[in-house]
Amino acid sequence: MDITKETAALLGRLGVNTDSIVGGDLPVHSPVTGEKIAALKSMSSAEANQAIEQAHEAFKAWRLVPAPKRGELVRLLGEELRAAKADLGRLVSIEVGKIPSEGLGEVQEMIDICDFAVGLSRQLYGLTIATERPGHRMMETWHPLGVVGVISAFNFPVAVWSWNAALALVCGDSVVWKPSEKTPLTALACEAIFARAVKRFGADAPAGLLKVLIGDRAIGEALVDNPKVPLVSATGSTRMGREVGPRLARRFARAVLELGGNNAGIVCPSADLDMALRAIAFGAMGTAGQRCTTLRRLFVHESVYDAIVPRLKKAYESVSVGSPLETSALVGPLIDKPAYDNMQKALQAAGANGGKVTGGARVENGHDAAYYVRPALVEMPGQVGPVLEETFAPILYVMKYSDFDEVLAQHNAVGAGLSSSIFTRDIQESERFLSADGSDCGIANVNIGTSGAEIGGAFGGEKETGGGRESGSDAWKAYMRRATNTVNYSNALPLAQGVSFDI
Ligand code: NAD
Repeated sequence: MDITKETAALLGRLGVNTDSIVGGDLPVHSPVTGEKIAALKSMSSAEANQAIEQAHEAFKAWRLVPAPKRGELVRLLGEELRAAKADLGRLVSIEVGKIPSEGLGEVQEMIDICDFAVGLSRQLYGLTIATERPGHRMMETWHPLGVVGVISAFNFPVAVWSWNAALALVCGDSVVWKPSEKTPLTALACEAIFARAVKRFGADAPAGLLKVLIGDRAIGEALVDNPKVPLVSATGSTRMGREVGPRLARRFARAVLELGGNNAGIVCPSADLDMALRAIAFGAMGTAGQRCTTLRRLFVHESVYDAIVPRLKKAYESVSVGSPLETSALVGPLIDKPAYDNMQKALQAAGANGGKVTGGARVENGHDAAYYVRPALVEMPGQVGPVLEETFAPILYVMKYSDFDEVLAQHNAVGAGLSSSIFTRDIQESERFLSADGSDCGIANVNIGTSGAEIGGAFGGEKETGGGRESGSDAWKAYMRRATNTVNYSNALPLAQGVSFDI
């Protein structure tokens, strides 16, 4: 199978000019075989700033298009995504190494958020607020914000863009997107798909509504520093957020930070162990452990430890690992060698801290530059060493607990605060977990794993996960500016709080 040829054919069908993917300075590798499948030209900072300028001009026109009409463009985008689902899903599998159902699932998530945003385009509601003054009316209105910068990570190369773009577009904003330098091809495909939607929409969609910036973090920095970008939604590591957050704060721009996770699950004495086993297996091994919501820490009550952990180990030993393009394996490759090295480093550190490791070795598949691994389950004596950090690889640290209050404290005793879950049939335990002194994460689930969120809820996490929210619920409010309006329809001018100022 010639993966380079297939990539070019897919891109061609998706509408990308395939001359643009050869001969450049930015190599793109497929983790499936490790081979180079394209070389794109990086943009300069000056080119990035020019693109932002165009997006700013587009914003000035787009903000005047009525919101339900803006929704029509997003409806067309959803239609184009439906038509492109098979090809784009396959391209995600090639560029990131996701198994087919996950590649397609990522595109489905894009379609779902488009549907959500179309409805939202008629529901950008403000409040009417009681005023203390007679003959007055007070209300709030939501206005388009400006150019929305989107920085995305390699592991959700297209869905994260759509979560932001679908909302931003109905909110009246234009979008400048800096995809991961590891996954620019799927971004070019999205750009072409969006262009088709714009063409069908007609002249009311200004040129420059979406600009894609190809390049590494330097281009990301140009986006972060540009004063014409009032909001940057940045998804990636906590390290990236520590740099991007203060830079945005320095110029008082808004940040939606979606950073790393160190997600945990608790298996309680009353848990349905069959259900827990399946949820844990998908949460910890799915996407080869490369989801921000991947299950990384598992606390198991001592009374059920021996009933579930040996079964879990068996699943780790038997899960199929292999090419997502040529086999029906459930676990695909790691993104690259640094990811593999980080995994091995973490396993060594776990061993040095008393961990008993099952799995973790490299699985050969005939490609020297591809990194397939058997997922690792590590029984730890406590929450120490690498357990406290996110390692972006399939490692599950398993720990025994005896006391519920203690395990809740342990659960929350890490830097990240993204996703969490509890397996229990005890209503007191599940309600405690969801309560004010329960899980401190942005996502807290009962009898469901930590990963695989739906678009209807707001997505994001607390603490070192950055505090941002995107996707469903009222996350759209970050993409608009709010104005409070007071209208005086009386003949008097009463001042608030009874202040008098008679001239
Ligand atoms: P990364 O931080 O290396 O890169 C993410 C993006 O940020 C890339 O586009 C990169 O070019 C850009 N970038 C890096 N430094 C920058 C800087 N100083 N200024 C501007 N841009 C910069 O992350 P990655 O390896 O691609 O992705 C994995 C990480 O992303 C994991 O930590 C994972 O948990 C996290 N993630 C979080 C979420 C979430 O919603 N919370 C979703 C997906 C991934």
